Amino acid sequence: MEDQLADFRQLLGKVYDLRAAAQLLGWDQQTYMPPGGGPARAQQIATLEQLSHERFVSDEFGAALSAAQHAVADLDPDSDDACLVREVTRLHDRSVRVSSEWVGEFNHQTGLAFEAWVKAKPAADFNSFIPHLKQIVVLRRQYAEFFAPYEHVYDPLIAEFEPGIKTLEVKAIFDDLRPTQVALLREIVERGSDVNDDFLHIDYDDHQQRRFGEEVIRQIGYDFDRGRQDSAAHPFTTEFGINDVRITTRIKTDYMPTGLFSTMHEAGHALYAQGVKQSLDRTPLINGASLGFHESQSRMIENLVGRSLPFWRAYYPQLQQTFPSQLGSVKLQDFYRAINKVKPSLIRTEADEATYNLHVMLRFDLEISMMRGELEVADLPEAWSAKMQEYLGLDVPDHTRGVLQDVHWSGGSIGYFPTYALGNLIAAQLWETIQSAIPDLEQQIANKDFSTLLAWLRENVHQHGGKFKPSDLLQRITGQSLTAEPYTAYLRRKYAEIYQL
Ligand code: ZN
Repeated sequence: MEDQLADFRQLLGKVYDLRAAAQLLGWDQQTYMPPGGGPARAQQIATLEQLSHERFVSDEFGAALSAAQHAVADLDPDSDDACLVREVTRLHDRSVRVSSEWVGEFNHQTGLAFEAWVKAKPAADFNSFIPHLKQIVVLRRQYAEFFAPYEHVYDPLIAEFEPGIKTLEVKAIFDDLRPTQVALLREIVERGSDVNDDFLHIDYDDHQQRRFGEEVIRQIGYDFDRGRQDSAAHPFTTEFGINDVRITTRIKTDYMPTGLFSTMHEAGHALYAQGVKQSLDRTPLINGASLGFHESQSRMIENLVGRSLPFWRAYYPQLQQTFPSQLGSVKLQDFYRAINKVKPSLIRTEADEATYNLHVMLRFDLEISMMRGELEVADLPEAWSAKMQEYLGLDVPDHTRGVLQDVHWSGGSIGYFPTYALGNLIAAQLWETIQSAIPDLEQQIANKDFSTLLAWLRENVHQHGGKFKPSDLLQRITGQSLTAEPYTAYLRRKYAEIYQL
């Protein structure tokens, strides 16, 4: 039995070595690669991904997986090995349905699409991106067909990022959440904003911002001996193993919160990846329970910690010392209100907590329409503008701040966006449980003490990696299934105080 599991782990490790190498090339593509390297890089990544996929669906691996399934049959179902075999079986069942040719083609096309998007976005040139996005929609429909019959054409796509949840369940949660969020937003806007954030929009030194952000995340628990931070146009976290978890950030010298909160956000992802138990390294379980769960960790560090008053009681004096001419005369309360200012805006990644999910719902609606063939790619900008008006009351002035703003579609990630909103909901649900487990949490944060919080997250969330389905993990931790209620309660509490609603 030991031997069978060892053989299985060895073959699995090789599959993931190839994938990690492809991811490293992807990291380089978004950080240091010269612009000319794009086409060759797309091919290199496609080759590695295809090799990885071929090994994973090979007869040799299939036989090792069957042997491993027998070997774990009598083990505790919660043991690492039993969970690993169960999860790999799920991934394997999915992968054997997808042809290697499709994987190669998909990776090649998305490599080219990414390069096209990088050029199209600053030029607001949607036309040059249309053929690429059309190709991606076609490939994603082909992908869905590998899983036919399905209830909804979007189900196989969302399953790649959020195992176990159906499109209609997400739709029901969003349909429930949207009116509450739209009503809260309207109330805030009607209240009239006297929140001044001009002092955030002045010049802040790039280097000083970076240093401050790195000190904050080091204190929260991000381990720089097993990670590093670089710059990227669209910040992301990537891991090549539990002991090499890299984050990226985007510093703006004319708007300070962008860099700090993207650093904290990515650090939240990285804490999860660095916190997975070492025995799960070199397996797909290091990627966590789901993207929604991952996002719950990043949004928790970014918002529930980073945009809270206790956090700034701890860090504001230091920030003022770092930027005395910008913030020396700004009071803590005014700073806190400024970083939480609610203002419907065009850009998802810069959206405040009151509007963020509405950006996600817009994309969710449009992706479903494209996948169902009800919306042509060429008509996307028009549909985008209509939704922006409906959800956020805004006109879209150009494609840079409209359909071209996100990297996801260029990477073929249709079905990914809903996980951002689910992450917000999961974060708030976990936070309620954490607050009852650690009654003086706010005081600890105000003392720059994150050790109890991190230990709780390590014990309850991080260490398990992808051992459990997201819905099971949430149930184990909170005793509840997914619900929007803690999130809407949190938003109301927070903004009632800031805006005196
Ligand atoms: Zn994230």
